[in-house]
Amino acid sequence: MLKVFNSLTEQKEEFIPLDKGKIRMYVCGPTVYGPGHIGHARTYSAFDMIRRYLEYLHYQVNYVVNITDVHDDMIKRAREQNTDLFSLGKKYTDVFFKDLTALHIQPATVHPKVTEHIPEIISLIQILLKKRFAYETEDGVYFKVSAFADYGKLSKIKKTTQVTGLRVNTDKYEKHSAQDFALWKKVKTGEEGIASWDAPFGNGRPGWHIECSAMNLKHLGTQIDLHGGAQDLKFPHHENEIAQSEAATGKKPFVKYWLHSGFLNVEGEKMSKSLGNYIEIQDLLKKHSGKEFRFFISQMHYRSRLDFSWNELEKTIRSLNGLNLFLQRLQEVSKQGIVSDKIQKLTETARESFIAEMNDDFNFPNGWAVVYAFEKQVNKAMDLGNFSKQDTRIVLDFFKELDSIFEIFSWEQLTVQLTSKEKELIDLREKLRKEKKFKEADAVRVQLTQLGIQLDDTSEGLKIRKL
Ligand code: AMP
Ligand code: ZN
Repeated sequence: MLKVFNSLTEQKEEFIPLDKGKIRMYVCGPTVYGPGHIGHARTYSAFDMIRRYLEYLHYQVNYVVNITDVHDDMIKRAREQNTDLFSLGKKYTDVFFKDLTALHIQPATVHPKVTEHIPEIISLIQILLKKRFAYETEDGVYFKVSAFADYGKLSKIKKTTQVTGLRVNTDKYEKHSAQDFALWKKVKTGEEGIASWDAPFGNGRPGWHIECSAMNLKHLGTQIDLHGGAQDLKFPHHENEIAQSEAATGKKPFVKYWLHSGFLNVEGEKMSKSLGNYIEIQDLLKKHSGKEFRFFISQMHYRSRLDFSWNELEKTIRSLNGLNLFLQRLQEVSKQGIVSDKIQKLTETARESFIAEMNDDFNFPNGWAVVYAFEKQVNKAMDLGNFSKQDTRIVLDFFKELDSIFEIFSWEQLTVQLTSKEKELIDLREKLRKEKKFKEADAVRVQLTQLGIQLDDTSEGLKIRKL
């Protein structure tokens, strides 16, 4: 039974999806005004592993990660760089997708962009206005927090403590209460020329929070199973999402389980450019591979705060190298032989224990502890000899399953032990190809396939794999 820690109830709860076998999952995406940093990489890698684990459990996951390509910080940045919001957004959306690929993060089912959802955002604001959860002023449309009784249920922030000390004008230009937040920002003097859209309540742009409510509604529906993001988004962003969505649809809860991942700090400090400890994803990838970073991330619970240091990363990579060597050894020692009950049982037990740990709120580190103990036992069995090809297959299958969740192993590095007959055939094929006798060469290749050897001619040369 899968249990997840729900930030809404602050408890581990049994996970029961709204629709049997299907999961609607949303994670707040990046604001695309600069290259991503390793904090973003942590958050999206952790949720990628969670999504893949849910798929491993055979759930059909409809996974949405939005792209915030309209934001006040973006407007500021576009001005500084003498460009416009759209070009800036396009540039860093491309960088984001490139980073995802390098980090082996699978694309979401959909990556909706704010610029492509303005009509949906406007309709949602209209509903909120009609239901009197929102009001219009000279400078925008605001959500009226006092009208939403459940406000604060996620962040546990009491309404009395929400007053931020902002000067609140009661005139028609400004919001009525410090807690109220912008749904729509009308174009002000001096803002001419920046991106804006026509709406019944005035030309302008959406506030930050409304996009996630609108995109959830459009791509996943009025109620969803899982909503994620890093801790910092709990308040005000997620609290405001709940208010907007539940006020508009009247359905609650908008989200059944809220998952909040831990922040990444660098050597004890919050990452910041002025402190000089700001590490972009591209800086990371100059030194280490995406798989190495993923492995590092997977050694920690997704909810724990992660204190990054290059030293710690390098230390962890040594464990990954150990696992890769183990996979290599597995293939080298395997002999012809019959499958032993022992390895099969050992693997089944390891798989069950791994799932039990992962079912406990995606406990990655405890899951890995099971894998390390299993590796030790298999190594012992290999030391004692009598390790058959089938044993190898059984153990490798389990490691392939792990890799479908974590995507960290270097399968391509596995060397293949060949018999003298297999070597002879490979040499013969090479000779025939050099002599341009392609038909004969192909016949040898078929012969090798029948022996369980797969040959791939790649741009880097011949790759040999055991099937
Ligand atoms: P942003 O682009 O800043 O809107 O952030 C996009 C996502 O990355 C959000 O879920 C943030 O909570 C998350 N995030 C930003 N900074 C960090 C960090 N240092 N550690 C972990 N997650 C972060
Ligand atoms: Zn969001």
